[in-house]
Amino acid sequence: MHDRLILVTNDDGLWSPGLETLAEVASSFGRVVVVAPDRNRSAISSAMSLHNILRLHELGTDRYACDGTPVDCVLVGVRSLLGRTPDWVLSGINHGFNLGEDVFYSGTVGAAFEGCLQGARAAAFSMDIQGDHDAAKLWIHRFLSRWEQLDLPPNRIWNLNIPKGEPQGFRMAGQDNRKYHDNVERRTDPRGVPYYWVGGEGGPEYARVPGSDAEAVQEGWISLTPLRLDLACPELMAKGGDTEGLLNQD
Ligand code: MN
Repeated sequence: MHDRLILVTNDDGLWSPGLETLAEVASSFGRVVVVAPDRNRSAISSAMSLHNILRLHELGTDRYACDGTPVDCVLVGVRSLLGRTPDWVLSGINHGFNLGEDVFYSGTVGAAFEGCLQGARAAAFSMDIQGDHDAAKLWIHRFLSRWEQLDLPPNRIWNLNIPKGEPQGFRMAGQDNRKYHDNVERRTDPRGVPYYWVGGEGGPEYARVPGSDAEAVQEGWISLTPLRLDLACPELMAKGGDTEGLLNQD
């Protein structure tokens, strides 16, 4: 038996079936400690709690519910519970894809990035809401059994999206572009006061750029996207002199 230490979390909350699936697969590779939000914390990105305390509830051996965000779960796990940096931080399996620009909003991805910042090898897993958990187990097991052989420089994570049905395999994919439209609904409550509902009716619409994550899952592949924390644009940085010259001239 290997002595890997693996922290598993998610953003859908401790009672999400996807978390159970991921923890079960991970248990083949080491000691799994689950620290997950005690409620749905989707679309909370990398938020952390600076102005309120956190409570941890031990629900069983190596299984904890935290009343904070996914990043809080990683921080409490790494900095307080585990006693050392885990070898892996695995986040998910999210109920629904995290494709294209959704990675900015995703708490699933946020937790994986935090794991990476804490020095662990980290990945975010998401799946079509109609996805099959048994199929996902097989493919995630294959990924985890080989991902230590993959080159992953510091400040990078893997973002995986699993399609419904039987996946064709893994496909390296870039980020697609998501179209945002009509995603704030204005309604009126019973007292006649307007309220607003972000993410109302109508699902996301993806451009399905060739080579993108959205195209990959659409075609039945598991999209595999290396994401990095450094968002600075290399192509614009390369033109630094021109930009500075323009802005700095009298
Ligand atoms: Mn979620």
